[in-house]
Amino acid sequence: MKTLDLAKENYEWMVDLRRDFHRHPEASFEEFRTTDKIEEELKKMGIETLRVTKTGVVGLLKGAKEGKVVALRADIDALSVNEETGLPYSSEAPGLMHACGHDCHAATLLGAAKVLSTMKDELQGTVKFIFQPAEEVAGGAKAMIEGGVLENPKVDMIFGMHIWSDVPTGQVALQPGPVMASADTFDLTITGKSAHGSSPWQGVDALTCATAVVQGLHTIATKVNDARQPIVINVGTFHSGERFNVIPGKATLQGMNRAFTEHSRRMLPEWIEKMVKNTCEAYGCEYEYKYTFMCSPTINEENSTKLAQESVGKIVGKENILTIDKAMGSEDFSEYVQRVPGAFMFLGGRNEEKGCKYSHHSNFFNVDEDALPLGAASYAQVALDFLNITK
Ligand SMILES: [Zn+2]
Ligand SMILES: [Zn+2]
Repeated sequence: MKTLDLAKENYEWMVDLRRDFHRHPEASFEEFRTTDKIEEELKKMGIETLRVTKTGVVGLLKGAKEGKVVALRADIDALSVNEETGLPYSSEAPGLMHACGHDCHAATLLGAAKVLSTMKDELQGTVKFIFQPAEEVAGGAKAMIEGGVLENPKVDMIFGMHIWSDVPTGQVALQPGPVMASADTFDLTITGKSAHGSSPWQGVDALTCATAVVQGLHTIATKVNDARQPIVINVGTFHSGERFNVIPGKATLQGMNRAFTEHSRRMLPEWIEKMVKNTCEAYGCEYEYKYTFMCSPTINEENSTKLAQESVGKIVGKENILTIDKAMGSEDFSEYVQRVPGAFMFLGGRNEEKGCKYSHHSNFFNVDEDALPLGAASYAQVALDFLNITK
């Protein structure tokens, strides 16, 4: 395939870029250096660029002929993780690391831009290269959309990609339907009445009430939710009490919920509040409750997925397109596919011999760079095929 040949020709250039990004990780919404570098590279290719949000950049490549508009998206932020890989191109920013592989995403999408700018004459339509900040805090996609990234020209279809440490290099996981879960948070304050530890009847014990609330919340997933549509309710923090001989008058809890269907997702605040309200009533406590919707589930649209399976199949071979268990983690790529048909793919980057076997967000996380040309060619091929289908 021409896209793969061109991507392979740019292998070293992509590796250099990836390592440069890796050395200089930047936190969400602070990707200033990264974005400058991306913009500079796009301009060198003769691609028109546009800043969207403080640290997001979009490249616009118009083909020789008029046509549809396809968007390709990469996220570019790093995480507050201390790198311990010992790699020669390790993070030079203490406490920050590209531990999710977004350095590879930036390099891969630049690779696709290079391939497609070389093939400009064969393009019938426009490609938008979206370099999005702040995926790790689930705010970047929303900010880019509010900044108009899906408009002018209006995007007809969108594709995203994540390098994936569970999939071996050379393979790509790609399937229709839900692939990643939603992620929404809640904050809960339970108030009772503090008293001397020897005289519980003179107070209202918020801690005991809160433990009952936690137990109750953990029955929702199995007893209230439709078990055929999995959800996770996680209480991640629990603070109560100041001293061993005092009845605690207050407990504060925080949690995060995951779901794959809009129904479960929308019902969760209600289910949780019912449990909280009735438990608090039984124990004589008051409560304050705040629910925040953050990130919806990522659901791959049928036609885009089919198209991507065929296109990426040309790059890695049909037999190397896998289906994998959906991930209970989340991705703010979901914001795009809620508005425009699209698909999200998982590019294999695992290679145990090279030590690329650690999970995302680990201090030891690394990927097999041989995945970069496959990723770049896959992005490019999907865009090319979508634009050049005449319907
Ligand atoms: Zn991540
Ligand atoms: Zn990620």
